[in-house]
Amino acid sequence: MSISEQLFERAKRVIPGGVNSPVRAFQAVGGNPRFIAHAEKEMITDVDGNTYIDYIGSWGPMILGHNHPAIKAAAMAAAEKGLSFGASCPAEVEMAELICEMVPSIELIRMVNSGTEAVMSALRVARGYTGKSKVIKFEGCYHGHSDGMLVKAGSGVMTSGVPDSAGVPEGCARDTLTAVYNDMESVRTLFSECPGEIAAVIIEPVAANMGVVAPKEGFLEELRQVCTEQGALLIFDEVITGFRLGFDGAQGYYGIEPDMTTFGKIIGAGMPVGAYGGRRDIMEMVAPVGNVYQAGTLSGNPVAMAAGLAQLHILKDHPEIYRNMNEMGEYFRNELRGIVSRSGAPCQVNGVGSLSCLFFTAEPVTDYRSAKTADVKAFGEYFRYLLSHGIYVAPSQFEAVFMSSVHTREDVDKTLSVIEDYWRK
Ligand SMILES: *Cc1c(COP(=O)(O)O)cnc(C)c1O
Repeated sequence: MSISEQLFERAKRVIPGGVNSPVRAFQAVGGNPRFIAHAEKEMITDVDGNTYIDYIGSWGPMILGHNHPAIKAAAMAAAEKGLSFGASCPAEVEMAELICEMVPSIELIRMVNSGTEAVMSALRVARGYTGKSKVIKFEGCYHGHSDGMLVKAGSGVMTSGVPDSAGVPEGCARDTLTAVYNDMESVRTLFSECPGEIAAVIIEPVAANMGVVAPKEGFLEELRQVCTEQGALLIFDEVITGFRLGFDGAQGYYGIEPDMTTFGKIIGAGMPVGAYGGRRDIMEMVAPVGNVYQAGTLSGNPVAMAAGLAQLHILKDHPEIYRNMNEMGEYFRNELRGIVSRSGAPCQVNGVGSLSCLFFTAEPVTDYRSAKTADVKAFGEYFRYLLSHGIYVAPSQFEAVFMSSVHTREDVDKTLSVIEDYWRK
């Protein structure tokens, strides 16, 4: 038995399913999860000494590669001074200033500890601000695991075999309305069915938790317009796209100004960090200024802030990183399209910038329904082949391939040749 297998056996005795987040269990693809010993740049090494080219990057945070020397140094220097104070520290101020400077729609921002918390808190603020209770989300978008958001959610929920989660009170789900991604008609219908009741529309501006689905031309613009007309707040969940599509996220990439934005993943550089922010008049609802309560013992943690700040400074000072990374994503998708068409496999290559996805379906994927036509068994076989040839992509059809700034042309070409061999074998 490999060391990973031994660890998984032990883990299953004391952790539900042996994992602390469901997708890690490999249930959607079969095979045994790898336990990771260490990682460096774009490479990740398991406890048995196998090394892989990593296309997960901790689900996005490691945009500059694993174990980045400047980020590590910043975190270690902060750790030297104490791990947590439960009081304000200078790094929190710097972090807020930097984000407000990089993302024009954000005037005030509050730090939390995960993307889930950021979304949960943003929705509370949106409800407090508008005095309305319903929210619209899109099928297949994932916004973390808070009660109200586990309705037609993407990511691990799509392959868990449980359509929606047990334990979510009916009352919570009732206030969550679901629309169809890329379909404005479905949004307008909900607004007309519930006039004056909708506090907010929350969306992943590029959906990256049902595989990767880009917004159609004009979709986000129209959504912005309808929200304004209807007096509902537009919340961009940029937990994946924030600081990835550019340093001003998808909102900069597409030129849309949301009312509120949620962040996670990249802003923590691998530490547990989330944040939510937006227009001043909205964010002034948050305690202690306003009467929407939200707090956190470890929020704005000095070590987490130091790591995140180091990463954001590098991204801000080196805009060419985005150009190169997005070009590498483009190159990967173009070559992959060539391989797919030569092999005759019924697959779709989706993606935006450094986010890509190979869907095992003959149908173009533009929303949740079309994403669900994917052959997850075929994906599982493909995943296991790649893993056994040193390529580590997400263990689910419905996740993104994350390119980092340190993936080289050589890495990508090696990956493409393994994929080509997969269909030739
Ligand atoms: C990952 C993710 C979340 C949840 O973040 P956690 O830190 O896992 O709680 C929320 N929204 C989106 C778009 C995500 O990708």
